[in-house]
Amino acid sequence: MTAAPLTLTPVGVGPAYARTGEAQSCYLVRAAGRAICLDLGAGALNRLQAHLAPQDLELLVISHLHPDHCIDLLSLRIYMAWGPGAGHRLRILAPEGTREHMVRFGGEDGWDRAFAFEAFAGDRGEHDLGGGLALRYREVPHLKPTYAVRLDLDGRSLVYGADCAPCGELPELARDADLLLAECSSGADPVPDRQAHLDAAQAAAIANSAGVRRLLLTHCYPEHDRDAALALARSRAAMPVHWALQDQEVTV
Ligand SMILES: [Zn+2]
Repeated sequence: MTAAPLTLTPVGVGPAYARTGEAQSCYLVRAAGRAICLDLGAGALNRLQAHLAPQDLELLVISHLHPDHCIDLLSLRIYMAWGPGAGHRLRILAPEGTREHMVRFGGEDGWDRAFAFEAFAGDRGEHDLGGGLALRYREVPHLKPTYAVRLDLDGRSLVYGADCAPCGELPELARDADLLLAECSSGADPVPDRQAHLDAAQAAAIANSAGVRRLLLTHCYPEHDRDAALALARSRAAMPVHWALQDQEVTV
């Protein structure tokens, strides 16, 4: 029996300020013909439409409320409430208070017409999405609260680490996963003090600790040397490592 396909397509890989041509955080997961989007930073809605009509998403997950992970909700609200998505209501799993947070930027109109908001509950949880697809989440240290997300389909699994500092929670969530998508904000350079992010060596350490089979790096600031970061991560990691590249689908 052939397993149903599980794929990850990076739609936007950029952090809070990105290289020219990069959208901010957004990753499209396709699981047996179903589409789930992880985060929607600036520029992501535009690029996402090259892959699918947003109203065809089954679920949009927002990991945390830093703008480079959620700000295109403002535009998607208009698209879904009054544009081509009108008549659909998109399910959103997001931190508690996301709707109120977005209303402060964009006004009251259209949010409930566009979206059905659901909040992460507590520091960990699980959703059975049906058809053998399961979503698990775990709070990780970053902006409070930030959630890393795991998707399992028919024995295959991918984990999105969101933004996070080195921690025990992400390796626990990612235990034995086929693919870990980990932020690498500062490339091969050490993360500056007091910033809750990862560098290449820390991302590799998390992947090793979790025992994942493949590591994809993402969310790197433009001033860091990505070749050096990849070389460092590969020298430390016990599994294949690559950069997540926009629009390049990865089969899990
Ligand atoms: Zn963040």
